[in-house]
Amino acid sequence: SISTGQDFDFFYFVQQWPGSYCDTKQSCCYPTTGKPEADFSIHGLWPNYNDGSYPSNCDPDSPFDSSKISNLIPKMQSDWPTLACPSGDGLKFWKHEWEKHGTCSESELDHHAYFETALKLKDQLNLLQVLKSSGIEPDGGFYSLKSIKAAIKEGTGYTPGIECNVDESRNSQLYQIYMCVDSSGTSLINCPLFPRNRCSSQIEFPSF
Ligand code: 5GP
Ligand code: 5GP
Repeated sequence: SISTGQDFDFFYFVQQWPGSYCDTKQSCCYPTTGKPEADFSIHGLWPNYNDGSYPSNCDPDSPFDSSKISNLIPKMQSDWPTLACPSGDGLKFWKHEWEKHGTCSESELDHHAYFETALKLKDQLNLLQVLKSSGIEPDGGFYSLKSIKAAIKEGTGYTPGIECNVDESRNSQLYQIYMCVDSSGTSLINCPLFPRNRCSSQIEFPSF
């Protein structure tokens, strides 16, 4: 049968703070293309349902194909680096994100549009600048979770979801920022629901 409607409700656009991925017990590996900039980087653009569940691995007939996004690769190396070990050039991470998540939003964004949309959202949001404008800097200091959410609401108009992890000393720290985006990938929206949050009321913003 022919289906035309989108089969998910919204996207989570998820960015990670590299300092918080790397200072954990598990540690990290810089990509073969070099140490990333001290900036938030893209984790993924994830189709989601309003009830919190989500589709995954929707189309085995649409494998990741780097030749379809060759013009985006240089920007993906800087804005969507892989920090997992062993070091890689990013292709494995991007393949995982496309096949697990991107194949579930193909009714809205094709292979090239999916990656281009994520890159555009990162530039539009400019979260590090937004936080710095409110005096929140990656200086190893502790900031209230409330102040971080308020700064992002002030700078973007929308309240983020914040995910924390812990460093080797078990300090709660800013790990990932979730923003919600409409199903076409064009506009920020108020989040229908937020990811579960394991943050303390005061969290570290480590350097990178
Ligand atoms: P974790 O268990 O580390 O939070 O998440 C593992 C993976 O599950 C993520 O990389 C992502 O692929 C997926 N995931 C976790 N939470 C969500 C969610 O709320 N929505 C979607 N779409 N995927 C999620
Ligand atoms: P998810 O399934 O949560 O969307 O993506 C997480 C998967 O991507 C894991 O298999 C993880 O090992 C891999 N991965 C590769 N590089 C990175 C990275 O820089 N950050 C995160 N969070 N996962 C990465």
